[in-house]
Amino acid sequence: MTGTLPLDSLRGNGELHLPGEPGYDAARTPWNLAVDLRPAAVALPRSLDEVIGLVRAAAAAGLRVAPQSTGHGANPLGERPLDDVLLLRLTGFTGVTIDPEARVARVLGGTQWLPVIEAAAAHGLTALHGSAPDVGVIGYLLGGGLSFYARKHGVAANAVRALEVVLPDGTLVRATATEHPDLFWALRGGGGNFGVVVAAEFDLLPYADVFAGMLLWDRARAAEVVAAYAEWSRTAPESATTALRIMSFPPLPELPPFLAGRDLVIVDGAILADDDTAAAVLAPLRALAPEIDTFARIPAAQLLFTHLDPPAPTPVVGDHSVLGPLDAAAVAALLDRVGDGVDHGLIFAELRHLGGALGRPAVDGGALAHVPGEFALLTMAVAPTPQAAVAGRAAAFGVVRAMSAWSRPNLVPTFAENRVESGRFYDGEDWARLCRVRDAVAPGAAFVANHALG
Ligand SMILES: Cc1cc2nc3c(=O)[nH]c(=O)nc-3n(C[C@H](O)[C@H](O)[C@H](O)COP(=O)(O)OP(=O)(O)OC[C@H]3O[C@@H](n4cnc5c(N)ncnc54)[C@H](O)[C@@H]3O)c2cc1C
Repeated sequence: MTGTLPLDSLRGNGELHLPGEPGYDAARTPWNLAVDLRPAAVALPRSLDEVIGLVRAAAAAGLRVAPQSTGHGANPLGERPLDDVLLLRLTGFTGVTIDPEARVARVLGGTQWLPVIEAAAAHGLTALHGSAPDVGVIGYLLGGGLSFYARKHGVAANAVRALEVVLPDGTLVRATATEHPDLFWALRGGGGNFGVVVAAEFDLLPYADVFAGMLLWDRARAAEVVAAYAEWSRTAPESATTALRIMSFPPLPELPPFLAGRDLVIVDGAILADDDTAAAVLAPLRALAPEIDTFARIPAAQLLFTHLDPPAPTPVVGDHSVLGPLDAAAVAALLDRVGDGVDHGLIFAELRHLGGALGRPAVDGGALAHVPGEFALLTMAVAPTPQAAVAGRAAAFGVVRAMSAWSRPNLVPTFAENRVESGRFYDGEDWARLCRVRDAVAPGAAFVANHALG
């Protein structure tokens, strides 16, 4: 960061927007509309050459670079000053290629999950994607990635075979188990601290269809459903990866009647088993007579729409922790904050079931090769105004605080909505190793990740 060239020197590598220019506000707005990013400049490269040109020009102008795909994970980035930062939005640099024989996908920098899963489905394949179709593949993989196949197949980052990265001097390197192995290890869980990842290659799964869906109850049933889910999840097989959410939908006309204006408990996810086995696994929850039960064999690509994530950019604030086993007192504490009759001020409080393969460090995995714990707790509030954001944060933090007696020290990067001490994502010495790799490949913290290493 020794350069002193004017910001205009960044021009010539695709769209560039400086503060005060007409396109600046639209270009700096992330998926999470509650986040107000004010970088020194925003660039939207459309090719590898433009990415390299921008990284070099940023260094010459004395700027650091914040790579971003969609801005789903922008909240922690919004908590720090970006006066010396070029925000590199990769939304226009996308593409996917499937090698059906090798069962490998290759995607470019800003590609989202939907086109990847659609392309894989054409060959009877799928991937360890997350719940939403419009999350960026690379941002998700760099943060570990928790899919609805995770208890069977582990953290999504473990499926990565190669990452191509532009370093601070504009050099393009390919990181694999044998080429730049330290960087390869660091990127798989260490986030956007090391460079601009312009391509990722990862293993696909041989599932053309899966047994998946949701069970839905009115929130009046919260006490019995949450208690039953906590009990069920204790012995659920690794083939089942599910989430329980206590949700409140606003009375919006665009929502279907079974959601609009309603307070609900929803259990959803996937069970990687034949129909009879999956039905037997689900039976104890089905015995609670849900109002809606969509669990069935579906094309694997449809799993991207089961979780009912917002279909468009949304202003949200939230909080997260990882919980251990939920005993009766834990269930009572949760219900005390989000059970029936409580105005919890959240759009949802979610328990994402961990364990199984997620809990076992993968052989040859990266910096985030497993996630210890029983549940990832995620609390979210819609925040269309600054006042709503304050109230939403209080509500989201309140639930996480109420569960602190059952919380573990670790956190999941892709679920951490706020700026946290990044050592909490990693095991023992791994954080120090990540910092050493970062200092070797990107000295001076040349790249600004949403979860900075410190
Ligand atoms: C509706 C919704 C549903 C979600 N569901 C799940 C889920 O099921 N499982 C799960 O694990 N997570 C889930 N997430 C969290 C999501 O995976 C993380 O927020 C993830 O970081 C988003 O990646 P992104 O690229 O879309 O976001 P961005 O905000 O663009 O990226 C997040 C960070 O990743 C890094 N990054 C992104 N792209 C690059 C790149 N090309 N090169 C270098 N660094 C890069 C940067 O540091 C960036 O700040 C969900 C989020 C939302 C909002």
